[in-house]
Amino acid sequence: MSEKFDFIKQDYLDGIIEENKIPKKEEVISVLEKGKEKKGLSIEETFILLQANDAESIEEIYETARKIKDDIYGNRMVVFAPLYITNECSNICDYCGFRADNKELHRRTLTMDELKEEVRILEDIGQKRLLLVYGEHPKFKVDWIAETIEACYSVKSGNGAIRRINVNIAPMEIKDYETIKKTGIGTYQCFQETYHRKTYEKVHISGKKKDYLYRLYALDRAQQAGIDDIGAGILFGLYDWRFEVLALLMHAEHMEKEFGVGPHTISFPRIEPALNAPISENPPHKVTDEQLKRLIAVLRIAVPYTGLILTTRENPDLRRELLSLGVSQISAGSRTYPGAYHDEKHNKPSMQQFTIGDTRSLDEVIEDVASHGYIPSFCTSCYRKGRTGTDFMELAKPGHIHTFCHPNAILTFFEYLEDYGSKKTRDAGYKLIEKEIKKIENDIMKKAFNEKFEKTKNGERDLYF
Ligand code: SAM
Ligand code: SF4
Repeated sequence: MSEKFDFIKQDYLDGIIEENKIPKKEEVISVLEKGKEKKGLSIEETFILLQANDAESIEEIYETARKIKDDIYGNRMVVFAPLYITNECSNICDYCGFRADNKELHRRTLTMDELKEEVRILEDIGQKRLLLVYGEHPKFKVDWIAETIEACYSVKSGNGAIRRINVNIAPMEIKDYETIKKTGIGTYQCFQETYHRKTYEKVHISGKKKDYLYRLYALDRAQQAGIDDIGAGILFGLYDWRFEVLALLMHAEHMEKEFGVGPHTISFPRIEPALNAPISENPPHKVTDEQLKRLIAVLRIAVPYTGLILTTRENPDLRRELLSLGVSQISAGSRTYPGAYHDEKHNKPSMQQFTIGDTRSLDEVIEDVASHGYIPSFCTSCYRKGRTGTDFMELAKPGHIHTFCHPNAILTFFEYLEDYGSKKTRDAGYKLIEKEIKKIENDIMKKAFNEKFEKTKNGERDLYF
């Protein structure tokens, strides 16, 4: 397909949002009935759920989202940490503290040794899944990026290892994505930030990122290079939240049509205050907590098999609430500045990309998540077993993923408790694991699980289905 075509129907979306039609309760209920079939929703149906404004309809939306979340993902919660490699950037994005014209920001790009030290620190607290984050600068060639990924995979500290690396990198050419794919990444993320083209062009003041269409087709190029787990996202606060949600679904529909599979994950950061980024202090379309809750619940219903990622931008109370509404992955213990894990360990002050809402340690988050009945999962099995892209979706849709994910979550959580858990976390965790093991019903799986569980108890690591 030509890269000139904007598949986001800008005028149509602006039109329905301006019309602002409030649906009748029966319409909401009928969309929810369809949602319960877990086959997803159309743009129009999704809009009905975004527009519902009576308390009863809203509660029904939340109930449906909770039910779908529970059916597909159970009580597992995948945990990861971001790792910032560089904050050098040649773009000027109005909302970001890494913008090229921010003279007050201390610029830093980790050396390979510094990077490995960051990974060691993260492994030593129990992290297994990383999201590598990069600024965009012409001096960062793809071979260097590939080297940083390989460096992270190479670090082994004690029982620790990084078993899955997802990356958040600015758009590239297909041949560069091919190089990245060879390093064995999990998901490639690139957020459109805003799908509203006029807003996009306004807030991206200068640099390569200014090109809306080049970014819009980044996930296509990644797919063409064979990266079949891709992550889409919106930076909420730049334009009307409802426009963004519907446009993101148009993006997902486009990916489905072209490649037979939509995004593997969706991220929905809200703009947080960042140094010398004035609009981050007062975003033009600030999204409230209620709107965030709604959009997560609605996405859960509209794209039931797509992972929803919640970061530490949000505070602990809200994060707790959002888990049940549809979130399937959370970051924990995050720092958003190159070298920040090392700096913190050595009590050195360090800046961040933006204000963090949840500053708790990984162990504190794990304890909290477990004592609320969720199994923190460090599982990385799917992509290592080749269950990615369409293969993942084919397995996920009939619910087979449940069969693998639940035992894998228990095994990886158990490893965490044994190797890194504090006393309080272990107390909460072992209790939960005892309960969860009883939920494995299939006899063959029960036997296979018990074998792996015993081996893990005896010190073996990284056993999975
Ligand atoms: N430079 C790459 C890019 O722009 O695609 C990736 C790294 S960038 C640091 C990662 C994400 O941070 C951006 O896609 C954006 O959504 C988010 N971000 C930027 N400024 C932010 C802010 N003030 N608050 C919250 N998130 C922000
Ligand atoms: Fe650079 Fe990305 Fe920040 Fe824009 S969002 S200034 S591209 S790091």
